[in-house]
Amino acid sequence: MFGPKIEYKTPAQIAIMRRAGVVVADVLATVREAAVPGVTTGDLDQLAREVIARHGATSNFLGYHGFPGVICTSVNEEVVHTIPGSRELREGDLLSVDAGAVVDGWHGDAAVTVEVGEVDPADAELSRVTEAALWAGIEAAQVGARLGDVGHAIESVVRAAGDYGIVQGFTGHGIGTAMHQDPDVPNEGQRGKGLRLKPGLVIAVEPMVSRGSPHTRILDDEWTAVTVDGSRAAHWEHTVALTPDGPQVLTLPA
Ligand code: MG
Repeated sequence: MFGPKIEYKTPAQIAIMRRAGVVVADVLATVREAAVPGVTTGDLDQLAREVIARHGATSNFLGYHGFPGVICTSVNEEVVHTIPGSRELREGDLLSVDAGAVVDGWHGDAAVTVEVGEVDPADAELSRVTEAALWAGIEAAQVGARLGDVGHAIESVVRAAGDYGIVQGFTGHGIGTAMHQDPDVPNEGQRGKGLRLKPGLVIAVEPMVSRGSPHTRILDDEWTAVTVDGSRAAHWEHTVALTPDGPQVLTLPA
């Protein structure tokens, strides 16, 4: 049997990935601050480009399979991968921003869901549940545990919170010298099953949750994933290194 091909990182390599993570955190903080009614998603992409350039980093999103932005800006029923452009944000929008950066060849990747102005309390709760599921997944990413423990932790938070859809067909992933590496990191799983987690594994944990259907379809732009029932979705993500001292979140602000 051939298992997943995993790039285990040294502490020195994780330290470089932390620098990439700081850039990603700065991008997300900047975009979050700027995401007010009347601003376009293209404006936010421009701000993100400036932050990445200021740090002397490069974008891993730009040009990825032809992707034209440095961030993804998915609004309301859009779950992930929306191309930034002329869409103006409106009061009450739920905006998921996914961002990445590369420093010295090492990648960072993280996402936040932003409330634009005053949002429906049910949308705010969706975002809160999704972020809580992210943190439960991170907490489960302990050396000696299994990958299934991570998915189980994420899934358990979402299921306990109510009648939500755990978005199917998308997972977290290994990350390092490339943005997407083995292993896949599912948002559901069985405790005690799957890959044994070892020091040096670095994963992007990224629950995507909707208020309705777990199923998506891709729009004609061949990028945007929307919920099939039009229900709103949230997306939270961090890049996390597994160390003997526990999970180290690389995409927190400096
Ligand atoms: Mg990711």
